[in-house]
Amino acid sequence: MVGGRARLRPHYEKDIVGPVERFDERKTAYSRADRREYAGPDEAIEVGLATKAAKRMRGFLREDFALNSAGRAIDTLVRKYAYSREDFPRRWAFKGEPLQVDNPVRMADEVKAVARWFGADLVGVCELDMRWVYSVWGDHNAKLGPDVQVGDPVVIPEGCRYAIAFAVEMDYEDVMRSPAVIPSTDLGYSKMAFTATSLAEYIRLLGYKAVPSGNDMALTIPICVDAGLGELSRSGMLITAEYGPRVRIAKVFTNLPLEPDEPVDLGVQAFCEVCKKCADHCPGKAITHGDKTADARMECNNSGVRKWQIDAQKCLAFWVKNGTAGCANCIRTCPWNKPPGWTHRLVRSGIKAAPSLDPLFVRVDDLLGYGRPKMNPTPGRRYRGSKR
Ligand code: SF4
Ligand code: SF4
Repeated sequence: MVGGRARLRPHYEKDIVGPVERFDERKTAYSRADRREYAGPDEAIEVGLATKAAKRMRGFLREDFALNSAGRAIDTLVRKYAYSREDFPRRWAFKGEPLQVDNPVRMADEVKAVARWFGADLVGVCELDMRWVYSVWGDHNAKLGPDVQVGDPVVIPEGCRYAIAFAVEMDYEDVMRSPAVIPSTDLGYSKMAFTATSLAEYIRLLGYKAVPSGNDMALTIPICVDAGLGELSRSGMLITAEYGPRVRIAKVFTNLPLEPDEPVDLGVQAFCEVCKKCADHCPGKAITHGDKTADARMECNNSGVRKWQIDAQKCLAFWVKNGTAGCANCIRTCPWNKPPGWTHRLVRSGIKAAPSLDPLFVRVDDLLGYGRPKMNPTPGRRYRGSKR
């Protein structure tokens, strides 16, 4: 109960129509790309450098590719040394009894404040639902995982009943460049890695278990839904009230006693029924215009839950054709992706309060030209000369 009323249930509960098996990470598109079943990000970058960068095409310069990959540096280190691990090489080790936690509500507030201090823009807590934990390690994360082989079971340390889910914002101007190179994407991974690793270490130094995790170990979107960060959308991404889908998300598993947050109802499910802008503008035709279904659309889809099924192979195929290890047309065009401002906050409240007006909101969004691509300079150039 929250303040005398029943807690909200996550929106996906009414869409569960069959058993939800823990997902095998080997089935993901990234694992399949690592096994060379699909062309993937590595091939995409090769194509981009050999064609568009070689011709000095705007948005695809060698400098753009370099900036994007450089932004990933901390993520690469953290995957190798910190993600998915209970331990960390530290300057001093905790000795003695764990910090006594008498008030999980206050502890959750403290941990969320610390997460924000380390760089999270949104934070929530949930009880970990084991259905969202991968059953086994896949190719993509095992190659940098903690002494695991592909096919090894994913193990959550005993007692880690909670997940702290968080989101970091990606730069608005940068995302509007899509489908050109968007350096904020890979920088977002490094911000996730820095925040998750630091937060986990803080919790360990209080005497509790903590495992930082990026895209490894578990499906992050349903964990974020459970923790009240947003809702799953037609584009297959999390939509948050504050930034729409323009976020990167990660989590920390822990046994630190924490009061869970409540899931949210932003009105996304009804809005996505009528909107379809992401599907209209998906160059890879990976996003459906159809209805939610529990039937898998292709071999990377999970079963048991009705949702808008994404064709991840088609998405990756577009990346390769486009010559970038990524694309964000679905983020760029989503009406929930807006720069900060009170008018946008007002519209978001309207979406929740009056779903019958959703078609009007979508129409006005189109008329005002939101979501159109704009070749903004990369942050590397925007920040030039701004400081001594
Ligand atoms: S990333 Fe691009 S190709 Fe993939 S689903 Fe989004 S819009 Fe489509
Ligand atoms: S673009 Fe529209 S349909 Fe697609 S995720 Fe955003 S709100 Fe939903």
